[in-house]
Amino acid sequence: MATGEFDLIGQYFTNKSVPRDDVITGIGDDCAILSVPAGKQLVVTTDTMVSGIHFLSDANPTDIAHKLVAVNISDIAAMGGQPAWASLALTLPSFDTEWLSAFSDSLHQQLHRYGVSLIGGDTTKGNMTLTLTLQGFVEQGKALPRHGAKAGDLIYCSGTIGDANAGLKLLIDANNRTDLHPENSDEALLTKNDKDYLIARHQRPTARVSTGQALVGIANSCIDLSDGLASDLKHILKASSRACGVALSANIELSALPLSTALQTYVSKALWPQYALAGGDDYELLFTVSAENKAQLEDVMAEHDLPYTHIGEIVSAGQSEQEQQINYFNEKQLTTLALQGWDHFQ
Ligand SMILES: [Mg+2]
Repeated sequence: MATGEFDLIGQYFTNKSVPRDDVITGIGDDCAILSVPAGKQLVVTTDTMVSGIHFLSDANPTDIAHKLVAVNISDIAAMGGQPAWASLALTLPSFDTEWLSAFSDSLHQQLHRYGVSLIGGDTTKGNMTLTLTLQGFVEQGKALPRHGAKAGDLIYCSGTIGDANAGLKLLIDANNRTDLHPENSDEALLTKNDKDYLIARHQRPTARVSTGQALVGIANSCIDLSDGLASDLKHILKASSRACGVALSANIELSALPLSTALQTYVSKALWPQYALAGGDDYELLFTVSAENKAQLEDVMAEHDLPYTHIGEIVSAGQSEQEQQINYFNEKQLTTLALQGWDHFQ
């Protein structure tokens, strides 16, 4: 593909970018030239999506581009940042004009939605692999870290969780791949709207940029939910325990987990925690707030009409506990959960 590389870039990815004052030179030179606004720090993230691992190999290019942008912007959102610039590394098995046209249209549409300029990229031939690097701004010293949780913090998450995994299961079932997922879900109970909603949550997530920004100065820690709440919360516990020198655990109330009616209709109640905690791909924000900042949180979330739910507390781990853990409660009764992971699918 090397000889056609510049034609490809020119045709599909230039002159469609969001104009921004901080982009001095965008696509077209050896490097982009960019200005970071005074008083801001740069936050940078890269995510790679591989066909058959991060999306079904028959996924359409419109959905792939949508998700590629959302998962990267979700990381900026988790830092409380404002997304600004993106660069794209595209590895494709063949030069497919139909695919490229649909992919680039969707990519630009999503970048416009978040006000992000595409500032550069590269293309190569190989198994389909898409890498986007996103850069954004946070106020100096105000980024929301994973490591800031303290004992006594209240734990919250935005939106609803588990939907994306239910959507993935619907798609897999449609391909007769029921072997990969637990049973006890019933597609027949779903309306078409419910089904479309769950599938859209898997294919076309929304990054919670406004929520992340609302949390700046209020939340002690924040992470976006990519692997599932159970494993992403452990990242907060681990980083925060190390930072404060005290082993921290979390108490999570299962009956408080925010679940959509579509998920509750589709999946039997016994499996709700499995979907909500181990499902992954939600791209909601999980964050902790001190009791002192609770009223401020409630005010700002109400002011911007942002959905969020209180699901538990950060606590000091008992002295006998060697490492951070999550204690699950059901209606305040301590309970044990055996969560089954399913990170990848073929
Ligand atoms: Mg993340």
